[in-house]
Amino acid sequence: MRIELIEISKTFGKFRALDHVSLTIHAGEFVALLGPSGSGKTTLLRIIAGLDLPDPGAGRLLFDGKDVTYRPADQRGVGFVFQHYALFRHMTVYENIAFGLRVQRRRLGLSTAQIDVRVRELLRLIQLEPFAERYPHQLSGGQRQRVALARALAIRPRVLLLDEPFGALDAKVRRQLRTWLRGLHDEIGLTSVFVTHDQEEALELADRVVVLNAGRVEQVGTPEEVYHQPQSAFVTEFIGTVNKFRGIRRGSRVEFGTSEALLPGEQVAVFVRPHEFTLSTVPHRHAFPAVVQRVHTAGGLVKLWLTAQSGETFLTEIDPFHWSQLTIKEGDTVYVTARQLRCFSEEGQPCHPAERFRTAVGQ
Ligand code: ADP
Ligand code: MG
Repeated sequence: MRIELIEISKTFGKFRALDHVSLTIHAGEFVALLGPSGSGKTTLLRIIAGLDLPDPGAGRLLFDGKDVTYRPADQRGVGFVFQHYALFRHMTVYENIAFGLRVQRRRLGLSTAQIDVRVRELLRLIQLEPFAERYPHQLSGGQRQRVALARALAIRPRVLLLDEPFGALDAKVRRQLRTWLRGLHDEIGLTSVFVTHDQEEALELADRVVVLNAGRVEQVGTPEEVYHQPQSAFVTEFIGTVNKFRGIRRGSRVEFGTSEALLPGEQVAVFVRPHEFTLSTVPHRHAFPAVVQRVHTAGGLVKLWLTAQSGETFLTEIDPFHWSQLTIKEGDTVYVTARQLRCFSEEGQPCHPAERFRTAVGQ
């Protein structure tokens, strides 16, 4: 189902939680709403679900081209899962999944036998068939969220809305469930909207990521686009790990990392990701010196924390082979260049023309 949000605004008292949000979610798409706490993600999801309304006259919501802004939640064909989707404690897994179907039995035109078939189907789907007679307290957190998901899917929704469904689970279970959920989405042919404040989760799961900041859409794009071509300083800082430097721009040249960078020019913010640096033990043009503060070698990449002459400390990541060639230790000086950098004005707008800054670094 195609979901269109048109200029949706929502205020609570005087506080504007959503500010003219427009967005189209294509049928079959898996979209992640990503943003810091308080950026309006839940509010937007609740409006799509029909649990909340936009301000009067401030925006419309279309499902497959039809205006559903004021259609009641239970008539939208939408399933939702929340972070703490309280299962009924006194009901078994089976009864929890069957509950919604029994309540809406008449409307859905289902017999008791048909309900049973559907619940068993869902138990298979969430891989909890042997657990049908267990109670929620006899399940792990991950299993409970799978039951919550089955409950949401029982009415065969065309749209699945998930609000930080794995937020309370530990990292490993989270990663497993994430992969499993994506498979399920593809298998059933759902249109899914997934709220998270975890950028890694969003980048790994979604076809497209919507970055929200203070009630506004900052950027919409594929994971590749928002990661590699962030359109604002906010998105650059929010997506992936990145180092921020004070920089000075003079025409097409940007300097950072050196104490001399305080010469006249436009003050800008320079962003470089940890893997975008090249380190050398030999001084050279374009490189700035930095002192190795800390080295961390447990992992696929070697992490080095360096302090530049400007006083800024930053993180670099290099492959172990490069590291073994460098023969440096904590306290040594290395010479740093950035293979790629992103430059933004103090207002957070990209420096134009941005591509000219790609190789102009350091002194
Ligand atoms: P997120 O899910 O991104 O953390 P929310 O959509 O929950 O953000 O909230 C966005 C902002 O709107 C927050 O500042 C929150 O305090 C405010 N807000 C949300 N719901 C209400 C409400 N019912 N009454 C008053 N303020 C609210
Ligand atoms: Mg929220």
